[in-house]
Amino acid sequence: MAPDNDMRCSGCGVAIQTESPEKLGYAPAAALAREPRLCQRCFRIKHYNELSSVTPNQNDFLRILSGIGTEKALVVHIVDLFDFEGSLIGGLHRFVGSNPIVLVVNKIDLLPKAINLNRIRNWVQKQAKENGLRPADIVLCSARKNIGFDRVVESIAHHRGSNDVYVVGATNVGKSTLINRLIRDYSDIEAELTTSPYPGTTLDLVHIPLDDGRHIIDTPGIVYESRLTEVADKRDLKTLLPDKPIKPLVFQLNERQTLFFGAFARFDFVQGERQSFTCYVSNALKVHRTKLDKADELYAEHKGGMLAPPSREHLEALPPLAKHAFRIPKGSHSDVYISGLGWIAVNSDAGAQIVVHAPKGVKVAVRDSLI
Ligand code: GDP
Repeated sequence: MAPDNDMRCSGCGVAIQTESPEKLGYAPAAALAREPRLCQRCFRIKHYNELSSVTPNQNDFLRILSGIGTEKALVVHIVDLFDFEGSLIGGLHRFVGSNPIVLVVNKIDLLPKAINLNRIRNWVQKQAKENGLRPADIVLCSARKNIGFDRVVESIAHHRGSNDVYVVGATNVGKSTLINRLIRDYSDIEAELTTSPYPGTTLDLVHIPLDDGRHIIDTPGIVYESRLTEVADKRDLKTLLPDKPIKPLVFQLNERQTLFFGAFARFDFVQGERQSFTCYVSNALKVHRTKLDKADELYAEHKGGMLAPPSREHLEALPPLAKHAFRIPKGSHSDVYISGLGWIAVNSDAGAQIVVHAPKGVKVAVRDSLI
């Protein structure tokens, strides 16, 4: 059947649907009577200068990425410092060809006070390299708190030459917050956006005009299901996603002690000398210490109750916990990270044997310490 033009958004042309707010083309049913007919995304851009994320499927996203490789452009890849490995787009160079990539590391406001940012930048550089990313520049910022934003704008201006700028990132890294800041504070596009239709806006990309006729192009956020923040119930995100500087929690543990992070994950110190473990997780998430020998029973009895979030109801939708065993070498400074939840720093003189339990599919690994 031919698409019904009346049911298309007059801003971006996407087919309008009223079922899934997080997907392309969503408009509340009540909005269908308005003229011009706009999807919620275009409505927000037009009236509030506010961009919201939509989630395409993986194939759509890869198609968009590969398209970038066919033209000359600057790619701005936004990652979340709080979930660096989880939010990095693997193999980005393969898709975007020889185009330069500026790596914008967002949410630095979450770092505990008095952290040396040069050290963080070096760490990012090393981790990026290990993950096959060779950025032309690395910028640390906080889109929410407007820290480092002048540097973001400077770097984009410097590296784009006279080309378009594509902004890519996983969901929840703060891409919308960052682009909204660009729109509000760094561009005079308001006049253009308030006149419909939006210049150059296509089905799945939003084009934000720049002074020289080029555009900043926002791509939809990619969903990585290896992040706890993707598999958890959306209502638990306010607990999982920190919104204040993280207060590290230090635990002196004897071997055969366990830490529970709500009922989302569990960290067993299986073997090693008594030592300290520093947890970097959202301040809103409760950490509960117990004996390893009692941990299974405690979880079975108290998950969703004393061990929460998630609540019992949300827990049912979460994959069961899977085990990951690690040996932390003697004398190393390592983080055991659980993508989307945070990490546990182990500065181990004597080495340690660790088992992490996290919902199946969520990425868990050991890396060099960030802090
Ligand atoms: P998107 O899915 O990448 O477009 O991400 P959003 O812009 O919607 O942000 C996802 C979540 O991260 C929201 O809860 C934001 O408030 C939060 N966020 C965005 N930028 C920052 C930041 O710089 N610092 C902190 N702490 N949170 C941020």
